[in-house]
Amino acid sequence: MSHKFVITDACINCGACVDTCPVGAIEPKGTQHAIDSKCIQCGSCLGVCPVDAIHGVCDCAGCGEGTCPNRKK
Ligand code: SF4
Ligand code: SF4
Repeated sequence: MSHKFVITDACINCGACVDTCPVGAIEPKGTQHAIDSKCIQCGSCLGVCPVDAIHGVCDCAGCGEGTCPNRKK
């Protein structure tokens, strides 16, 4: 099961997640931060966000509805 990691609109642009990423996949984007295609889905950035804006979303069909049992967070 693979996950796609995303930063939601809850991001307050604090930058705390940037240094947790081993491949430099998190960068400022406008007034928030975003995860780009370099992400290797390691999960290191989960848990550092003060507003819980980073989520690992599994790629099964249930994610769109937020009902996936394999959802990491
Ligand atoms: S899951 Fe890992 S590789 Fe992907 S953005 Fe977070 S820290 Fe970086
Ligand atoms: S730690 Fe959270 S609020 Fe701060 S830049 Fe990263 S995603 Fe945005």
